[in-house]
Parts: sequence; C-alpha cells; structure tokens
Amino acid sequence: MAGKSTPMMEQYHALKREAEGCLLFYRMGDFFELFFDDARQAAAILDIALTTRGEHGGEAVPMCGVPAHSAEGYLARLIKAGCRVAIAEQVETPEEAKKRGGSKALVRRDIVRFVTAGTLTEEALLEPRRANMLVAVCELRGTIGIAAVDISTGRMELEECAADRLGAALARLGPSEVVAPEDWDARPAEAIERARQDFASDAGEARLKAVHGVATLDGFGAFTRPMLAAAGGLLAYLDHAGRGTMPLLLPPVARESDSAMAMDEATRASLEILEAQRGGRQGSLIAAIDRCATGAGARQLADDLSAPLTDRGAIEARLALVGWLHADPLLRADLREVLRALPDIGRALGRIVAGRGSPRDLGQVRDGLAEARRIRDHLQGKPDRPALLERLLPAMGGHGALVDLLQRALVPAPPTERQNGGFIAEGYDAALDELRQTSGSARRAIAALEGRYREDTGIAALKIKHNGVLGYFIEVPAKHADALMASDSGFTHRQTMAGAVRFNSLGLHEEAARIAEAGGHALAAEEAHFEDLTAAVIDAREAIAATAAALARLDVAAGNAERAAEGDWCRAEILEDRCLEIAGGRHPVVEQALAKGGERFVANDCRLDDQDRLWLIGGPNMGGKSTFLRQNALIVLLAQAGCFVPAVSARIGLVDRLFSRVGASDNLARGRSTFMVEMVETAAILSQATERSFVILDEVGRGTSTYDGLALAWAVVEAVHETNRCRCLFATHYHELSRLAETCEALSLHHVRAREWKGDLVLLHELAEGPADRSYGLAVARLAGVPDAVVARAKSVLDRLEKGRAETGGLAAGLGDLPLFAAANAAEEEQCDTLRERLRELDVDALSPRDALDALYALKQDAASTEP
Ligand code: ADP
Repeated sequence: MAGKSTPMMEQYHALKREAEGCLLFYRMGDFFELFFDDARQAAAILDIALTTRGEHGGEAVPMCGVPAHSAEGYLARLIKAGCRVAIAEQVETPEEAKKRGGSKALVRRDIVRFVTAGTLTEEALLEPRRANMLVAVCELRGTIGIAAVDISTGRMELEECAADRLGAALARLGPSEVVAPEDWDARPAEAIERARQDFASDAGEARLKAVHGVATLDGFGAFTRPMLAAAGGLLAYLDHAGRGTMPLLLPPVARESDSAMAMDEATRASLEILEAQRGGRQGSLIAAIDRCATGAGARQLADDLSAPLTDRGAIEARLALVGWLHADPLLRADLREVLRALPDIGRALGRIVAGRGSPRDLGQVRDGLAEARRIRDHLQGKPDRPALLERLLPAMGGHGALVDLLQRALVPAPPTERQNGGFIAEGYDAALDELRQTSGSARRAIAALEGRYREDTGIAALKIKHNGVLGYFIEVPAKHADALMASDSGFTHRQTMAGAVRFNSLGLHEEAARIAEAGGHALAAEEAHFEDLTAAVIDAREAIAATAAALARLDVAAGNAERAAEGDWCRAEILEDRCLEIAGGRHPVVEQALAKGGERFVANDCRLDDQDRLWLIGGPNMGGKSTFLRQNALIVLLAQAGCFVPAVSARIGLVDRLFSRVGASDNLARGRSTFMVEMVETAAILSQATERSFVILDEVGRGTSTYDGLALAWAVVEAVHETNRCRCLFATHYHELSRLAETCEALSLHHVRAREWKGDLVLLHELAEGPADRSYGLAVARLAGVPDAVVARAKSVLDRLEKGRAETGGLAAGLGDLPLFAAANAAEEEQCDTLRERLRELDVDALSPRDALDALYALKQDAASTEP
C-alpha cells in the first residue's frame, strides 16, 4: 500500500467502489485484509489488532486482517453487528499473473460475493430454528408490493397490501434485510436502497419466468403488478449479491392478505410471540411451546405463530393431525426420535443450489431423503390417518433413484471440504479405484524403499519424509551424510539442515511422481463426480424442498402434540360465530415460570359472546389482569395457528384481527412520547377492529394524568362497544369506568380477587364477576415495602379525597377541568384569526422579493409573541 498510486492501491479502490456500503475483505495470500475505515470498524467489532501498512496521502494506512480459513466466524460477527461484507478473492494464481503481465504483475481480484444478513446459506452463520428472510418492498400506484424469500431454503412469497399495512406485514416477516427503491420516500427506515429500475414489474415477471424456466407464471398462482415489481427488486438484488449465481428459489407463492389473522407490530411485540420484549427468545410464546425435533420444524412453527390461519377447514386439518399424534404417544415418541436425527435437508439444498455445497451437504440430502421414505412407510401402515397426513405422505416418498445414486457414490460420512477428496465411495468408479490403488501401492513402495536404503547404507537412522515444499525426501543425521554425498552413491543432495541432510533418489522420485499423478487424477475424478451429483440434486430441488416442507409440517404437529400432552392442553373447537368461551385457561409462559418456582397457576374462565362481548376487568395491581388478558389472546392465536391450547376446554369463534395494547409506562419508547405511542396504537384499533376481531386493552389511558386518562379510557370503551363491536377485554384501575355498565348493554364487570388478611393483601389471581369493590393501591404499596408511616399518611390523604369526591358528585369533580381546556382553545383560535386577517391583507403580486421576506419575518414574530 505504499505510495499514492500503486497498482494494488488502485485495484483496492476500484473494488471498494464496487462494494459500496460494504466492508471489503481483500484477499492477500492466506488472509483477508481490511483497510482504512473498514479496518477501524472491523477491528472494533471483532476486537482484533489494528495495524498499519504503507501509507496513503502521507498517512499510515490502517489495516486489520482475518485468516481466510477461519473467516466464517468473523463474518458471522460482522453480520450480527449489522455490517455487509464484499469478498474480493484472488481469481488467478501468482504464476498466472506473471505469465500474463510479467514478474511484477498484480494478481487479479474480483468481488465474488456479497455477504449480507439476508443472503446467508452457511450453517455456521444461520440460526437453525429461525428463518432468515430477505424482503423487497416497493409501491406501485398506492399499493405496496412485498417479495420475501428465505434463501437458505428457497421459500418465496409475494403479497400486496395497503400502504398503512406495510409495518404489520414486515413485523410478520421479521426480515434480516430489506431492500427498497432509492427514490421512494416512504421506504422502511432500515431498507437498503436499490435502483428504481430494478423494481419494474415487467422485468420482475421476466426474471421470475427465467429463474423457473417457464413461459407463464399462471401455474404458480395469480400475481399482481406490485407483487411482480417487488419480485423484480428482490431478484435483482440476489443477482447482485451472488455475483450472478442465483440461490435456491422455489416457485413463488401468492399470499392472500386475509388468509392470515392480522396482527400489527405493537400486538406482536406485546404478546411476545417469537421474542420477549426485553429481547431474545427466552420468555416468548414460542420458547414455551416449541417441542420440535428439527430446526426446520421450529422454523415452520415460528411461521405458523406469525400468521395464524383464518380458514376454519385449514385450521381443523392441522388440529386433526396434532390430535392423531396426541392420541398415540408411542407412535409420537418413535416419530420424534427419528426426526431428531434428521439432517436439515432444506438448508443443505440451499447451499448446494447457491454453489456453496459440500460433500457433507450431499450426504445430508441422501440421509434425509432416505429417512423420509422410512417415515412414510411407517406411517402408511397406521390406521385412521388424517387428511393432512395423506397430503404430506406422497411428498415424503419418491427420490428412489437419487437416494440410490447418492448412497452408491458417497462415503457414509462425507467431509465438509472437498479439495482433499476422499468422499466418493469405493466401488462407485472403477477408474478412480484404480488411481487410488496406484497411489496406495506407490506409498507402500516408498515404505519399502526406506527399509532397503537403511540396509544398503547401514544407516539405521535414515528416514523417508514428506513436506509441502520438498515433497518426498530421504533424511539422515549430519554425521552420516558424507557416505551419501559420494557421486556414485545413487543419492542426490537436496538440502542441508542444522543436524540433518536431505537427499533424493531416482527410485523415490519415480514413486513420488506416481503418487502425485495418481492423486491429481483421483482428485479431478472426484471433483467431476461432485459436479454430477450436485447437478442431480439441483434437478430434483423442488421435490426435495417439498419433502423438507412435509417433514417440517409433520414435526410441528408432533411437537404440538407433545406439548399438549405435557401440559394437559386441549383441542379448541373452532366456530364461525363470535363466541370466545375458554374454561380453565392458563398463560403458557407465566405458568411455566411459576412452575419453576414451585408455584401454581390459577386457571380462569373467559366467556364472551354477542350479548356480552366486552369485559371490563378491575382489581388490584399485580392481581393478574394483564396475565388474564394475554392468556386469552394467546389461546386464540395458538388455536388458529393449529396448536392445542392451555385450557380445559375452548370454543373459539374465528378471529380476523387480533389487537393487544398495553398502556404506556414511564420508559420512553422509540423516541416518541409514550403517551403519544399509546394513543397512536389505540387509534389504529378503533379504525381497524371489526366485529370479528378480538382486542385486549391493558390499562389504556395510564400514560397521562388521571382526568384525561380516565376520560380517554371511557371514550375508548364506548367506541369499542358501540362502533367496533368486537370482542374485547379491557383491564383498568379506574373504578369510575364501572359506571359504563349502566349504559353499555353488552359490557360486563369483572375483577381479580384479593383479600386483606391481617393487614396484608393476598392476591388470589382469580377472576370474579362484578366490579372491584375498592382500590388496593395502598395495600399493594405496603406489600412492596413502602414504609408504614408513608402508607398511613397516604391513607389519610385518600380519605380526604374520597370525602371531597362524595360531596361534589364523583366523576363530576374531574369534569371540572373542562372549561379550562375550552378557554385555552378559544385563545388559540383568536390568534389564528389575527394571523389570517393579516395574510388576507397582503398583496403578494405587489411585493418585491425583499418585501416578501420582511413580511414573512414580521408574521413569524407575531405568531411567536402571541403564543398562549
Ligand atoms: P396486573 O396486570 O393485575 O397488575 P399481572 O397480570 O401483571 O397483574 O400479574 C402479576 C403477577 O401475578 C404475575 O407476574 C404472576 O406472577 C402472578 N399471576 C398473574 N396471574 C396469575 C394466575 N392466574 N395464577 C398465578 N399467578 C398469577
């Protein structure tokens, strides 16, 4: 890197320009080196030494490097930290470079691949139990197109939605990487910007057809223009990232927007479906229920929970399979044991198609497919097979010829590296066997030579050794060297070391050449077989992917059955009406957490229907209100995802949209005021919830002062009851809301029970009918360790407040604030009037630019000075 314009520096900068926005891994011998800011950034993330190399513009060039053979681990950490990496490899050997451009020629380097979070296929870089989604989004005439792919398995989905549903759609997909057109103002904040022309719908359609080698996409489904535009952006990005090598892409599936229960981002976060709110899987719903034996099963389960179904038939089909496996513990245990040993063939296939497959990946496909057939044969003998299983079984068979080929061709446990060969089984290729025999016999001949030379020379310490530089050589201790140095000894001198001298001989040279030649031919033969086997697997990619999907679906059902058996869960009855009857319901996550501490979870019932569709739930803090709300939402979600539910029995009328909101507490969320967030989220419910929706509202209105909080809570309950008419559970600490029962006929009052015992509060976590009889705030404060003197003082303040309220007529005391608000509004109106008046008076045409500017300043000053 010395000087300003060394050829290497020029090459580096040219590659760096191509790698825009990425860290550049620049291959130098056995290392990938990073320079300049890339080096600073990577050294900090990887915690490796930052050094310098040469100088640029008079300053030392910062540099750091990672060994090429262990680059994967470093890549993983950089990707996790949110970086993207361009890999620049040497694409010719130094010898080739010299031949091309003389002794000083620079080795040619090219970017061979972009490694980004959404385009990974390597086992070490992926989480086995999580899908890895790459998503492209764009807007076409007001409609959003979304294309999503998990290139580790090739699953691809296209959908479209209204502009205001983009957030919810992305929340469902949970992408690792998002790309969007650069000129689109409303693109998601995290999106990588790509050229607009990538997102042309006709080009997208053409690319899809080309990838799948079809003349029309009709066979895959009906795709709209926005979907095709997004697909175009996605495929263009994949083409760019893979430098022309397309990863595994299965035929796209059009996702209908109402085929899944709608949940927005806030609902997903608050229900902690795939991730707990404090981050990570631990404490989430999926962590509490996932009993899948395979990574592919766990990924499918996550997908199911992210998009619960709304079609009764489809839900029942899944439940029937779970039920069948639930009823037969022995079959289930056998099946799960077999599944546990199953390799992840979906992801192995992904690597193979992306050109990053190894002999081991071929072995995994072989073993997985063979096992799938055995599972199919086993299940086919069982009676009363549910319909879904009948649909899965055919996908698990087939592959006979391919499995047979792979079984004959590969050794039982093929290696991950292929440059050393050794993965093609004996007996598969006679010529290869012969080459191997030749090198084997040459090796034996060399061993024999060693014995002969010892005898001939009388030097017992003579050895034949091998190293990477000299190849085979004869080595004797220095003191014996003279005898071999004689010109007629038959040995030629090669190297003198400190205590030893090395020689060659004609016989050794010949045998070594035989080994090298046979070895080289054998490697070439194995490589050719590898290409053929890879091609055979790629040919069958769709059928293999279908097998992987069928196995994953079976695993999910077996895992769900296992979880149900473990926790004594039940199969919900799915109905078309608007009931929600859950007897003995429990919260799967809280129950599990309590069980760890040896505590028992108190089961509770929920009974909503058309006549009684809104429950207002009061009672002390920590009494179990939130838990009750969430458990019912989770039970609905689980049931529609096709899982059994933690309850004694459940009758669930299909839910089209699920909303969960928790009143803001005092931590700041996402930079907006928490109360603002609370209201934005509440507004979304009021505008989107339908009669078929289920809504849980937990302490909404808590984020502001008592009076307007109460007023808002009041108004929200009324609106939900009168306008949305959805099923709703509303938890609140505002006693005053109880009065709503007088006017809202489908609303009923409930509370979590508590009892004061010897001055302490005992929380029973039991739901009962009727309003909460009093506020237990003071008792909770005492329970929490607030000093007695403070609690006593609070008690006397409370008494005074309650007395005052009784005299002024309860809620009316709060409404006393209203005129104040009105007065403030009036003042603001007045100011607007004067400003309007002055604007009207301006004759804009008569103003010089200078005068216009002055007028603007004056107006602004007035506005500021009259601000209330
Ligand atoms: P609230 O919303 O009324 O303040 P939570 O639902 O947050 O109360 O519950 C507080 C705690 O009480 C929970 O963390 C849990 O430990 C316990 N709890 C809640 N519901 C139950 C239940 N049904 N059975 C046993 N313990 C419960």
